[in-house]
Amino acid sequence: MKSCRVKLLDANSQQCRWMDGQIDGQAAVCGSPTHNRTSWCEEHHKRVFSRNIRRTRFEIDQAKFYNLTPLKKKSVEYPTEG
Ligand SMILES: [Zn+2]
Repeated sequence: MKSCRVKLLDANSQQCRWMDGQIDGQAAVCGSPTHNRTSWCEEHHKRVFSRNIRRTRFEIDQAKFYNLTPLKKKSVEYPTEG
């Protein structure tokens, strides 16, 4: 996988936000193209969501969302990140 590291402040919304050391004393991120509207590239997305603590927190957020939102339709729309 090629490295596209950029400074965090220079990364745009289509660049992976996986923290990856520093460039010139500023926080750097992976910078590869993001995967499926997430904040990470495919490789880092897998790493983020393979960590149980993050997945559990994500699932809790989902549950909260659905509990607080009356389900009127049989099929619900998946909440997207703003
Ligand atoms: Zn990445």
